[in-house]
Amino acid sequence: MSNIVAIVGRPNVGKSTFFNRLIQRREAIVDSVSGVTRDRHYGKSDWNGKEFTVIDTGGYVIGSEDVFEAEIDKQVELAIDEADVIIFVVDVETGVTPMDEDVAKLLRKVNKPVFLAVNKVDSGKREDQAMEFYTLGLGEYYTIAGINGSGTGDLLDAVVEAF
Ligand code: GDP
Ligand code: MG
Repeated sequence: MSNIVAIVGRPNVGKSTFFNRLIQRREAIVDSVSGVTRDRHYGKSDWNGKEFTVIDTGGYVIGSEDVFEAEIDKQVELAIDEADVIIFVVDVETGVTPMDEDVAKLLRKVNKPVFLAVNKVDSGKREDQAMEFYTLGLGEYYTIAGINGSGTGDLLDAVVEAF
């Protein structure tokens, strides 16, 4: 397989919402398997005529705040191994959290394209708030609202360009 995009980030930032939007009207090609991959969902998508596989990570934490940093780290490390491109989703509502910093630390070492997506940005005020994510040391970010697709086109333009 090639052109694999992994969506990573801590719980409740909106990874699955964005994933579901990407694979809309498409079937997930692989669901729960075993062992380390049991919590990863795979789907097919395309943008600008380029097909790709997208991986949603961290399904085990839906609706739960009770998650260990080590679990997130494991998912991020798997994503780094498996993916060609990584989308790191963070949440403008909460701002930067220690878990975001932890994930950013792993991603800064990666020799693959990493796109920072600041999610839940649906107003000018939140555009301003998004600036605090520069402190993650990952450079430029894309502001998106996965729930309605706002901003996701620009992000996907850049993602498929990176294949
Ligand atoms: P995950 O744990 O990272 O997969 O996050 P989910 O996709 O399950 O979303 C967590 C919560 O954030 C849900 O209540 C979503 O409806 C909400 N959410 C996701 N995207 C957006 C968005 O763009 N704007 C707002 N306001 N809420 C969102
Ligand atoms: Mg999820």
